[in-house]
Amino acid sequence: MVAKLRAGGCRITPQRLAILRVLAESIGHPTAEDIHTQIRERFPTTSVATVYKTLSALKAVNEVLELGFADGSSRYDGNQPDPHPHLICVRCRTILDQEAIGFDALPREIARRAGYSLIGHRFDVYGICPACAGAGPDGEEPGLLQAANAGDQATHEVHLTHDKGETQ
Ligand code: ZN
Ligand code: MN
Repeated sequence: MVAKLRAGGCRITPQRLAILRVLAESIGHPTAEDIHTQIRERFPTTSVATVYKTLSALKAVNEVLELGFADGSSRYDGNQPDPHPHLICVRCRTILDQEAIGFDALPREIARRAGYSLIGHRFDVYGICPACAGAGPDGEEPGLLQAANAGDQATHEVHLTHDKGETQ
């Protein structure tokens, strides 16, 4: 990450290094605000703007994957910058990485058939995680599903019965 940023002409400051560390150590998919909160423990003067600037620099050199949602929110993956399937709980907004062996062949083939050069792809599976399902139906379900909804909720929403542990 550091080398790529440097190569991209980006100045490496202690704050930026701390942001890189938070991203590298995050198992989940933090928001810029989550990152900012963690950074401020050590660098109280770091602004959210600095976090956003660092994130976009990392995005530009393909070191971070941004998952944007239509409500304007974004989540960041600093561990797997290449597109990969995500499993999203619409209640607690947990986002889990999913491994789908051979999955990359599909977008490549779709693009190839149409004569497109492939830039990226996105595959989100929506559901309610076991913890939220156990908590009962009173939770609201705004946010990510609505935000990313392509128009037909029923075809996108998948109710999951597996344990979280199996999917990691
Ligand atoms: Zn949940
Ligand atoms: Mn991910």
